[in-house]
Amino acid sequence: MGITKTDFMRGMQCPKMLWLDKHRPKLKVIPPEIQERLDAGNAFGDRAMGMFGPYEEMTVFRPGTTVPDKAAMVRRTQEHLEAGTPVICEAAFMDYNNYCAADILRRTDRGYDLYEVKNAPEVRPQFVRDAAFQYYIIRRCHVKLGRVFLVLHNEDESDPFRTVDITAEVRPLYKWINDNIWELNRLQKQREELMTKPGAQCTEPYACWYYAYCHGGQEPGGETRTL
Ligand code: SF4
Repeated sequence: MGITKTDFMRGMQCPKMLWLDKHRPKLKVIPPEIQERLDAGNAFGDRAMGMFGPYEEMTVFRPGTTVPDKAAMVRRTQEHLEAGTPVICEAAFMDYNNYCAADILRRTDRGYDLYEVKNAPEVRPQFVRDAAFQYYIIRRCHVKLGRVFLVLHNEDESDPFRTVDITAEVRPLYKWINDNIWELNRLQKQREELMTKPGAQCTEPYACWYYAYCHGGQEPGGETRTL
């Protein structure tokens, strides 16, 4: 069990959030409006796959399920990289069991550029960290990775995709990822529950789905939920 991009982002917001994901996920409460936002993000991501024309998607599910078969996705991605496929979507990589699936890899003269799709109008710090995690894993898998872009959502739906080059922000985060990924690996396997004190991390940058559990049934707005 390694660290995925989602694990890393959640664990860096709060290590206890990652621990609960691994050991007590049934305590999670995802508000309907957040689920709607996640679904809208997935739909925008699906639209963006075609932004550079024909593409190959790497998603493979375990037979009879909708659970991604990560090992099969990594193998399929490797085949397409070796074949020089121009646009590879959901390109999967694994390094010492740490895993990411990149939204879009686009071939260039010198290798591939990475595109991370976000259903948002502007660059946010957490988007840069998210892309940096992918950059870290992909580089460790010896792929010649050039520039890193965010694909943001324009207001104009006839021209919905806006790319922003964040390579200069992403590259310096390589060491920060390396400094934290192994500690998160260790923490997620720890048997005892982490006793992190609630604080600002409970709502920033994302409202935590374990908020009620850690705050004695209180919701972020002060309402009480029956646990
Ligand atoms: S509610 Fe706060 S302390 Fe509890 S897991 Fe979430 S972020 Fe961590």
